[in-house]
Amino acid sequence: MTMKQRGLGVLLVAMLVLVFPFAAHAAESGDASAPVAADGHLLAGDQGGHGATAAPSKGSQVTVQLAWYYYISSSCSGYENSIVAGANYWGGGVRTASSGTPVSCTPGYVSGCGGSNVVGCNWNQGGRIALSTMVRDFALLSAHEFGHNWYGHSASGCANWNSAYDVMKTMMC
Ligand SMILES: [Zn+2]
Repeated sequence: MTMKQRGLGVLLVAMLVLVFPFAAHAAESGDASAPVAADGHLLAGDQGGHGATAAPSKGSQVTVQLAWYYYISSSCSGYENSIVAGANYWGGGVRTASSGTPVSCTPGYVSGCGGSNVVGCNWNQGGRIALSTMVRDFALLSAHEFGHNWYGHSASGCANWNSAYDVMKTMMC
């Protein structure tokens, strides 16, 4: 793919976000009805707005991303190292003071994401990320939500660190 074609692809994605935000949100709300394990935390409804549809293939390892930017709000005080670890899983992540994807934290469930019992959300592929600090592996949750900058969910089940495919599973257990 040439640089020109790549640029056009990005532009088309941006246009789709503008044209179809409501339709995409409705689809995500439907995901929130997925079953929840008793001790698990649902991630199935965690993509607010436009979400990526391509998932990392089974057994795939991380494809390092080009430079991308995020900043951590004061609501995540004390959790910065885990968030940075989650970002670093994908490579290319640059923590900044105030530019790129804003990352905020909450001690409860994340609201405004098209479902209940949601512990993480990524709106519009990096437009904004919210994380719940009540999950057991906060760095894994961070990696999962940053992963939604490029990927949708890979499969139902408990997310783990084994591969990009596993990071993008639907539940934090
Ligand atoms: Zn997710």
